[in-house]
Parts: sequence; structure tokens; C-alpha cells
Amino acid sequence: MQFADIKGLQDTKQHLVNAIKHNHLAHALLFLGPEGSPNLAMALAMATYINCEDKEEADACGVCPSCQKMAKLVHPDVNFVYPSASRSKEDEEKDPDPDKKSDIQSLWRQFLIDFPYGNINDWMRHTGLDNKQLIISVGAARQIVKTLSLKSFEGGYKIMLIWLPELMNTQAANAILKILEEPPAKTLFFMVGNHIEQLLTTIRSRVQVVQVRLFSDEEILSYLSEAGIAEPRAREIARLADGSLREAYRLLEEDEDESTQQFKTWMRLCYNFDFTAIVRMSDAFFSMTKESQKGLFSSGLAILHESLVKDAAADELLRVLGDDLVFVQNFSKVLTADKILALSQQLSESIYHLERNANPRIIFTNLSLQLGRIMRT
Ligand SMILES: [Zn+2]
Repeated sequence: MQFADIKGLQDTKQHLVNAIKHNHLAHALLFLGPEGSPNLAMALAMATYINCEDKEEADACGVCPSCQKMAKLVHPDVNFVYPSASRSKEDEEKDPDPDKKSDIQSLWRQFLIDFPYGNINDWMRHTGLDNKQLIISVGAARQIVKTLSLKSFEGGYKIMLIWLPELMNTQAANAILKILEEPPAKTLFFMVGNHIEQLLTTIRSRVQVVQVRLFSDEEILSYLSEAGIAEPRAREIARLADGSLREAYRLLEEDEDESTQQFKTWMRLCYNFDFTAIVRMSDAFFSMTKESQKGLFSSGLAILHESLVKDAAADELLRVLGDDLVFVQNFSKVLTADKILALSQQLSESIYHLERNANPRIIFTNLSLQLGRIMRT
């Protein structure tokens, strides 16, 4: 993660870069921002910048050995602490080093790569620790002290990034107080949290706060258009996401799931020439926003594409899972490649007509009949 990977928030970036340039960086920072803000991303970008061997004016170079290690999150001087399942006292005593870490560490790296805007629930799902209480334990805190007492591997700064210090209990906090107050030379603490009021006072009084705001609608919009989402729909999602990139991605996924479901139901109706149900569905279609109407047709195109791949017996290229896979398998069993192409053609034409404001009810009903006919002949 580099500063350039975070859209907008120039002030915050500038503030951090200046602190390094003018040599007044506090040794313990709290990157404080609401869920869905780039607080974690900002801390990662800052860590990359600090250890970069060939810094540019306002960002890391991205190519030096240090930057490459940061990109893979394997820099030996950047350590991570994150909430994990709480362990009993006996567990702690039997194995005071919660470092059965190889597994959880690779999960953590993957999490940072896939969900740098995720929250604690995303982390729980990612680790499979659903329904467990996640904390930063005293064992983890002792590990911090141990790690920081070692010399830096690469001669640069040693950074300890603590994600969600709110989840540190009193014992854990007490275990790091001393080192937090008087860390060894060239040691930095980057804490990344959402709620300063939930931090223990002893911690709060020892960190300097870097406020990280939520994204603006325009900034969210540029992430979405980079992901290939067309303007009107992207704008709607940006508005609903209210500055949270996490929420924007969630809405996007939800949207896609819903229209895929709808498409599958619809295809069954067309195949069965179920006119009553098709007319009912065309009413529902009529009352959807134009973006959702187009969304339904585009999910259809995506599924048809998968069916073509299936038809070509290139199973390993399929991107669908579960129910959708069964649907695609059945679909490609029933339909030849020619038919699938003919269906796609019809769908693309209908998107074209929708964009030109033709009556959606008529488009939908005609299209249903056409699709039914192609499938049955
Ligand atoms: Zn670099």
C-alpha cells in the first residue's frame, strides 16, 4: 500500500509526509478513523514510505527492496498485532507465545490485501473465528515487547502496527505501557482504531492522533469506476455508502447477488413459457430503477458467458460457485453455444433499447418471449 493507492485525503498524506521531512514524527501514532475510512491503509502507506530507500517527494518509490517487501507485507521490521480469539489462562501458560502464527499471519496478510477497508466482522469471517470473542491478549502484548527489544533487521525503523487497540484488555495494555512510553530508538507504534473513547486512558494519553476522515462521494466514485462500474449506478452506490468504502463494496456485491438470483428465476419462466408469471415479473421490472433493470440484463450476460465457457468444457475458467454453478451446468446442458450466443445478443440489444428509453415493460415481455423461443427451438 502506498499513498497513491488511497484516493483523495491529500491533507492527511501531506501532514504525515511533512512530519517525516521535518523530523517531528511522534513515536506513537493513532490513525483514528471511522469504519470504512482509509485509517489502516494510511498506516500501511506511511510504513511503506518511512522505510522506502528511495523516497519521492510525496510517496514511496514502490520499487526498492523495502517497498517490494511492504507490497507483499513481509517486511521483517514491520510487525502486526491484531485481535484474535481469546484464550484461557491455562492456554496462555502452556503456550505463552500466541505465535502459532504461520497460519494466522498468512490469513492476516491476505486480509490486508483483500479487505484493507474491512472491519472486525470481516476479519472474523476471514479467519473462520465467527462467534468467538476477539481480543488483543496479554500474550500478544508480551510478544510486542519481545519483538521490539530485538534489533532492526534492515537498519531502518521498526514499526509495530496494532489494529484495533480498542480490543486490548487492561492487562495487555499494562504490558506495553513502558515500551510505549520509552521505546527503543527508531521504533514506531502505529495504532489503527475507530473509537478513541474505547481506548484505555493509559494508552490514549501516550499516542498522537492522526485523524483519518471518511471518503467523499467523488473519491468513492473513482474507486467504483476503476472497478468498471458505470456512472449512474456507481453514483447511487457512492451516495448510499456515505463515505465508507467497505459499505460501497458491500452494496456492490449485494446488488450483483440479487440480480443474478432474479435472472435465474426469470430464465426458468422463459424456458417454461409461463406467461402469467412473465407478465407479473414485467410489472416488477417496470417499477425498478433503470440502473437495476440494466443490472439484471448485465448479470444475465455474465451468466451466459459462464455457460459458454462451460460449454467449451473449460471448467477451471468458471468463476461461479454453488447454486450458480448448478444453474450454469444445467443451462449449458440444455443449450448449445449457438443458442447461448443468440440469447446474449438479445440481452445486449435490450440493454441498448433501455438506454434509449424504450418502454421497459414492452422490452421485458418481448425479450422473455424471444428468449423462451430460442431456448425451446
Ligand atoms: Zn521504495
